Amino acid sequence: MSGSVRCLVAGNWKMNGVLEEARSFVSELGNNPAPERVEVALMPPFTLLQALAEPLRQKGVSLGAQNVYYEPKGAFTGSISPMMLRDCGCVYVIIGHSERRDIIGERDEQIRKKMRAAWSAGLEPILCIGEHLEERENGQTNNVLKKQLAILEGGIPEAASLTIAYEPVWAIGTGKTATPEQVEETHAFIHEELQRLGRDCRVLYGGSVNPGNAAALMKTPGVNGALVGGASLKADSFMAIVAAAAEAN
Ligand code: PEP
Repeated sequence: MSGSVRCLVAGNWKMNGVLEEARSFVSELGNNPAPERVEVALMPPFTLLQALAEPLRQKGVSLGAQNVYYEPKGAFTGSISPMMLRDCGCVYVIIGHSERRDIIGERDEQIRKKMRAAWSAGLEPILCIGEHLEERENGQTNNVLKKQLAILEGGIPEAASLTIAYEPVWAIGTGKTATPEQVEETHAFIHEELQRLGRDCRVLYGGSVNPGNAAALMKTPGVNGALVGGASLKADSFMAIVAAAAEAN
């Protein structure tokens, strides 16, 4: 990855936040210390997208969603299409988060369709990949990641934008983070695999990133930003991670 690419710090609120909390969060958001080097994005629940689009735009924060359905419209009760996300001002959408794979039962074939649909609507997918603890302990990490990335085989459209988030499942919401050595080695493998598939891109690290560990993680070679869950719910901890990314890049 060329050093000139802006890194991305993205906050995934998961199923958290109502309007009043979201308004306080935005009012407490400080300034991005290095907008030319670090992009900041927020993925609140669907219910807050419309309300947050303009206030976040004014703060220079990009808007994203946490999920999308792959059909453009029709009888799919409860689903949200890529164009609906665009209509709310989204530029990003998280696809294939491990909570959706493991709790909702989302499979690679659906993830592949969602990627295509997001690209067709001009959204940038943040494709989440990562191994379970047992897979890491059995030396299966690279095989698992290779299989998850194989959904990109057969072509990423020329004009499409893409970001990958490497999120070891055992590090999500657990307070455990991968060591900088594990992160460096795994990100190197992912960048290599992306090159083989025809398109290297930003690879974010995700999994219990917080203000205390962000500096070391953001400095790790091959890391192009962070996907942040729990620590993105408070403006001060989220902006401390943004500051660490600015320092490192
Ligand atoms: C996530 O949900 O993508 C995530 C990384 O969560 P946390 O930072 O809470 O581990």
